[in-house]
Amino acid sequence: MTKKALKNALIISSLILTSCANQEVKEPTDITTINWEPVTTQESTIEDTQEEIEELEVEEVKEPEHVDLLMIGDVLVHKPVYTSGIQEDGTLNYDHFFINIQDDLDEAEIKIVNQETILGGTELGFSSYPCFNSPQEIGDAEAKAGFNVILHATNHSMDKGFTAINNTINFWREKYPEIKMIGLNLNEEEQNNIQIYEQNGFKIALLNYTYGTNGIPLPSDKPYLVNLLDKDKVTNDILKAKEEADFVVVLPHWGTEYQYGPDTLQQEYTQLFSDLGVDLVIGTHPHVLENIEVITNDEGHEMLVFYSLGNYVSGQNKKDRVIGGMAKVSIEKDYETNECYITEYELDPVITQQGEYTVYKLEDYNDELANQNRIRNQSGCSDFNMEYINDKCSEILGETFNQEQEKVLVKIKK
Ligand SMILES: [Zn+2]
Repeated sequence: MTKKALKNALIISSLILTSCANQEVKEPTDITTINWEPVTTQESTIEDTQEEIEELEVEEVKEPEHVDLLMIGDVLVHKPVYTSGIQEDGTLNYDHFFINIQDDLDEAEIKIVNQETILGGTELGFSSYPCFNSPQEIGDAEAKAGFNVILHATNHSMDKGFTAINNTINFWREKYPEIKMIGLNLNEEEQNNIQIYEQNGFKIALLNYTYGTNGIPLPSDKPYLVNLLDKDKVTNDILKAKEEADFVVVLPHWGTEYQYGPDTLQQEYTQLFSDLGVDLVIGTHPHVLENIEVITNDEGHEMLVFYSLGNYVSGQNKKDRVIGGMAKVSIEKDYETNECYITEYELDPVITQQGEYTVYKLEDYNDELANQNRIRNQSGCSDFNMEYINDKCSEILGETFNQEQEKVLVKIKK
């Protein structure tokens, strides 16, 4: 049966069903509760029905809208990381961070990076741990690679105070107005504004918060500068996001450093997000990968959680901290039912190649590259190799990590 014939058959059968139902409904009061008024109040002639069919035929059946979301973890810019971008002529270029994941980026619509360190500009001087300031040329490389959502609510947001935050916000707004920078705000109104990605009417809300700012308080006259995890604020935002969008994504900066699973704070907020009907959570901050979970709330609503994507690029000196993750989530909106759901999710482990400070997907990595990784020069890291990486991914991700495919890949049947 052709699509058109199938559609006609459906229209005719629905008309038959409607008219059968009409005969069964005897009491006018029942009619009002069923809401089939247009058909029940008029006797349609053959011509009317024919017209109705033609009219319906013109209406296109809208296919489900599909959005692919991709996210990477912390861009944590220690000194060797920012010096890796110095060119012969003295200019800075960081395209090498993203060159090996460009194909993946090109396939996604929403591309998110956690810019852990502030892009305060050269006037503040570049600095490493514990109070970072990083080159804005890193932002240029992120924009060039195609990232369109930059997360800036991190424990390092306040490292260089208001000036650096102001410079970072202005850098993104003036140079890349089409990119959504989330997590930092210049006034209260901006902070209350929900950031929404829209594609053909499919609206996806994106929220970003940090657990804190390393003990550096927000200025008392500017409490809106950085989005902090606060139960009242988060609850209000999520409720607003649920009203304004079809699908709600929370991207929290949380957790305990170097721990492979959620801590109490992560568990508490995960529960809150789930109770409020959030659809997807992707976390950052612990500098290592954490596990993935699907949580179902009392109403049967499912929420997918990647607790931590670990580092994307960093100069950290332990072998588990050069293993991060690239999350990929396929989301659909069915225009017939107005339902939104995840059709597939994936976690591709990624390896920071220290020395060059480029990053490889695990499926493109091998022992030869592992041998050249400068992480091996660090104490306790001389056995960094493919076996170590695969074992660590299995330890953290459990059975969902497929050692043959070197990734987590879950397809969901609807
Ligand atoms: Zn952090």
